[in-house]
Amino acid sequence: TPDWPSRCTWKPNADPKTSPHTKETRQPRPKIFPDILKTVGETPLVRLNRIPQAEGLKCDVFVKCEYFNPGGSVKDRIGIRMLEDAEKKGLIKPGDTLIEPSSGNTGIGVALACAVKGYRCIIVMAMKMSNEKVNVLKALGAEIVRVPTEAAFDSPEGSLAVAQRLRDATPNSYILNQYKNSGNPLAHYDHTAMEIYEQCDGKIDMVVIGAGTGGTVTGIGRRLKELIPNVQVIASDPYGSILAAPDNLNEGGVGFYEVEGIGYDFIPVVLDRSVVDKWVKTTDKESFIMAKRLIREEGLLSGGSSGANVAAALKAAKNLKEGQKCVVILPDSIRNYLTKFVSEEWMEAKRYISPENIHNHSWWDDKVSNLQLEKP
Ligand code: PMP
Repeated sequence: TPDWPSRCTWKPNADPKTSPHTKETRQPRPKIFPDILKTVGETPLVRLNRIPQAEGLKCDVFVKCEYFNPGGSVKDRIGIRMLEDAEKKGLIKPGDTLIEPSSGNTGIGVALACAVKGYRCIIVMAMKMSNEKVNVLKALGAEIVRVPTEAAFDSPEGSLAVAQRLRDATPNSYILNQYKNSGNPLAHYDHTAMEIYEQCDGKIDMVVIGAGTGGTVTGIGRRLKELIPNVQVIASDPYGSILAAPDNLNEGGVGFYEVEGIGYDFIPVVLDRSVVDKWVKTTDKESFIMAKRLIREEGLLSGGSSGANVAAALKAAKNLKEGQKCVVILPDSIRNYLTKFVSEEWMEAKRYISPENIHNHSWWDDKVSNLQLEKP
């Protein structure tokens, strides 16, 4: 049976002698990096200049561009952290096989580290996830096993049960298991949160973060609350997922949705819902339209869950005042979805835009001309 309920061993205020936290202090970026894995993190924080203003927000909205990581997503941080933690504990060594259930981005982070360090890598991924992710994983040398999207988390066809069967059948293999691995929230508690804190000079009023495993929201949320007790932690969760609380927000219960990487049909061990002040449910349509607006109006080449987070932020930050700061995580990029929401034919086939809007950009042009850009 799946070992989901095992405890996450993460202790945020642990005794320094036994603490699992990173001991190294942050260093300025070197001129030359010894390998690509060292470029993970220290991602840019960028101001939104059009969308929040057009939607009547008074506060500043800043986005943390996690797609600047070398594998293209926020999950590079944990792929490398979990692998190196396991190496330090002597659990794995180059030549071994790492098997990971993933919606793709953790898989890419783990596969990137495996390529650099010399491990075999097998990623177990639901059918729903994009072919772009499959091709990136294959290019990194990973083997891929697909499982049915509709398989429940605890079913024998689910990604964890399949990963466990593969592990049992493969000598010298190991599952890092992002759903219960302390390295997942710790990567964000030790690094992502501190980067945001310093980038904002310690003044942050709200953070908006989508939850999949919940590692990002748990790690960033807990650290920022220790540093800034009044910060509001907002989590986005798609309809069709049941991560949001209170439960009556999860209208319709477990169901299919298109946005990748966020939402689940169970509460992962690494998700601490007590750090979240408010959950905002999101639809596929608003997420993809917002992702397209981020690309078109702000030049931010982000993915679908980035659109969900910004859509949630626009609702949650309505009452913030001028001078207050709202930080939104952009977890991955356009690269993973070139044949999905980036394609207008796909958007029309899914009924997110109407046929007359395919290759007819007048609706964007109206918005842009309203901004009265200076003519050269
Ligand atoms: N967005 C995308 C695109 C992702 O791949 C993930 C990771 N599953 C998330 C958001 C959510 O991150 P976390 O697992 O830390 O909750």
